Amino acid sequence: MSLIEVKGLTKHYGDVHAVRGLDLTIEQGEIFSILGPNGAGKTTTVEILEGFRTRDSGSVSVLGFDPSTKGQQSREWRNRIGIVLQTSADAGDLTVFETINHFSGYYSNPRDVEEVIDSVGLQEKRDALIRNLSGGQRRRLDVALGIIGNPELLFLDEPTTGFDPEARRAFWSLIKKLRADGATIVLTTHYLDEAEALADRVAVINKGVIVEISTPAELGGRSTSQATVQWRDGDQIKSEKTDNPTSLVSSLSAKFNGEVPELIVSRPSLEDIYLEMIGGVDE
Ligand code: ATP
Repeated sequence: MSLIEVKGLTKHYGDVHAVRGLDLTIEQGEIFSILGPNGAGKTTTVEILEGFRTRDSGSVSVLGFDPSTKGQQSREWRNRIGIVLQTSADAGDLTVFETINHFSGYYSNPRDVEEVIDSVGLQEKRDALIRNLSGGQRRRLDVALGIIGNPELLFLDEPTTGFDPEARRAFWSLIKKLRADGATIVLTTHYLDEAEALADRVAVINKGVIVEISTPAELGGRSTSQATVQWRDGDQIKSEKTDNPTSLVSSLSAKFNGEVPELIVSRPSLEDIYLEMIGGVDE
């Protein structure tokens, strides 16, 4: 059985049909990224999976459990899940260590507090008050609070907003490490490079429906799409789209008798493909 199974999920807010019959399965141990424009229904879907919002219809199973169930069983289920929301932690008068240590008490099998502080790169801020942290440092604290419970399943909503490039790379390594340790990760992000770097599979959602689920490399026929070959010919930059870049490059190489000046061979980025997909969906 898959770790997450969603069938025919729907959700209205008054007249707004936010989720319109969504099917999704997420397997144990994968990083699954949900992409989509503002208002596509990502947060609604993820918060239904987390048990924070009710659904109108459809079936949902997360770790073999219906998130809408209440009671003791639900508490045990929540113990196995980590969540990093878009909003920041707010405990201004506690230090980083105190906050994480406090949260670790909520879980039956927490990770080591110092190790978690280390893994999110907050060692130097261990004894700093939360209210004195920078935006990116507070976000790292949010991530620390999401993983302190040693979750089997981790939900990350826009986790690297406000991170500097170095911190993002460090965060990506951390997420890969968590996957290597066996966690399943559901990542909502607007950064296509982040989805590309991390996700085993991505789902593109638009207007409450799934447009496509695929690997980042294959989304929208990306891996078989035409390549663009660009080079310099005298004082001109030339470019050509082709299905056979290798043969074009080898004929250019013959023409230039070796090195092709300023040669670039490129395929559409994940962002190019994504924007095309989103633009192509009817009202
Ligand atoms: P974003 O990328 O902007 O976070 P999203 O894909 O997460 O967007 P949702 O927050 O799920 O989108 O919203 C989907 C639709 O449902 C939007 O049209 C939104 O205005 C509407 N909506 C979401 N929450 C509510 C609510 N509590 N009450 C009324 N409408 C809502």
